[in-house]
Amino acid sequence: MEGPYAAITFDDGPHPTQTPRLLKMLKDRGIHSTFFMVGECVAENPEVARQVLAEGHEIANHSWNHPLLSKMAEGSVRDQLQRTADVIKQETGVTPTLMRPPYGGFTVNQRSWAYATWGYRCILWDVDSLDWQHRNPAKTKAIVLAHARPGSIILCHDIHKTTIDAMPATLDGLLAKGLKLVTVSELLSMNKEKAPAVAKEKAPAAGKDKAAAGSKAGATAGHAITAKEAANAATSLSELGTPAPVKADVPVKADAPVKSDAPAKAGASVKTGAPTPTVAKP
Ligand SMILES: [Zn+2]
Repeated sequence: MEGPYAAITFDDGPHPTQTPRLLKMLKDRGIHSTFFMVGECVAENPEVARQVLAEGHEIANHSWNHPLLSKMAEGSVRDQLQRTADVIKQETGVTPTLMRPPYGGFTVNQRSWAYATWGYRCILWDVDSLDWQHRNPAKTKAIVLAHARPGSIILCHDIHKTTIDAMPATLDGLLAKGLKLVTVSELLSMNKEKAPAVAKEKAPAAGKDKAAAGSKAGATAGHAITAKEAANAATSLSELGTPAPVKADVPVKADAPVKSDAPAKAGASVKTGAPTPTVAKP
């Protein structure tokens, strides 16, 4: 499928007042988004989660209470993800197929068994609005509009009033740029339709900080993309989660370069072609 598609995503909700504000803005523009929800918040605001789903958006797993998963024992990580999947299923009826680790911190090994266990694809981002940090609507808009391009996955948080304040102009600006905003799953399925995969070689093994360069060259680890996409749109698609041994034909080494085990490093290694440094969310 051709087209200037991108995904704007919202993390850390659902929030009792800000998420509904956002939903109205999205609905008015016919935009569908992916919401990476925190299990605890789903339990607190189940009606908001149901509204998100009812209005055509996608719900994904963002852990139970937002810890740095890459530093945790496997059992605890499994619990974080399973509890969240359970509450989403219980409250909305859907089972999430995507996850995003808080702070982008998730090891290669974790990605592998999360895929094997739940079929999760680990979704990161290439455009970081840094909305949680500056809390400035004008900056949110400026950052997003400056860096969003076809294939982008844009990171925002629907728990901050200032983020939602930024959205009418941000969304209108994205549409004015000619971008068509879809859910992450829709974005991935568009890329998947394009066979054969060329992303056999992953990011260079030179080190974590070089992963972005590798991604820019066309490898979003484990995700099948075409050369053309690698050259343009998909260079910014931060989809690092389909562990190769399970699905694709790409072996993942234990020491694969996309390993991210600390917030700051995770940002450096997972952001594909991103223009701004990632700072771990407090
Ligand atoms: Zn988060």
